[in-house]
Amino acid sequence: MMEQSQIQCSKCKTTLSQEDIFCPNCGYPENGGQEEKDKFDYRIKLKMNVLKDAKKKLKNVKILLWVLAAFHLLAGLFYLTQELTFYDGIGTLIASIIFIACVFWVKNQPLTGIMAAFVFWILLQLSVVFVDPSLLFHGIILKIIFIGIFVKGISSAKDYKEFSQKLQVLNAPNE
Ligand SMILES: [Zn+2]
Repeated sequence: MMEQSQIQCSKCKTTLSQEDIFCPNCGYPENGGQEEKDKFDYRIKLKMNVLKDAKKKLKNVKILLWVLAAFHLLAGLFYLTQELTFYDGIGTLIASIIFIACVFWVKNQPLTGIMAAFVFWILLQLSVVFVDPSLLFHGIILKIIFIGIFVKGISSAKDYKEFSQKLQVLNAPNE
């Protein structure tokens, strides 16, 4: 009986037979030419760059949420000291706690976490309409920047999910 020689994929360590040009698990052209191997490596590098960029954008969202939490905490504590705004203070402190909770949500489920935080933030902005609609345009530049960070975070969360799954098959370093 002839022993069939087997080789391991140098990318993901899957065993493949000598007839296989491509690894059936990760698609690496183990028995292909150098040019094909270079192309594969290049595509991996691109994916890792997308992942790296997505991580940066997710970090921006987390920083924004911490800033919002801190701002609402300070404002809430200040309101509490004034008799007239005591109940506003309680509401503002609750908002602060929700922003902190969102940070942990984003850590565990980036996409749903960011969307929830974004919706909550929008509702918070809209809530001033009942007091004074012109407040909606208060600090409009800052608000536009915040919206940009949220929107980029949402698209990055999608990229992060997609590309980390693609790279997982290779056991590629995620950091
Ligand atoms: Zn492989």
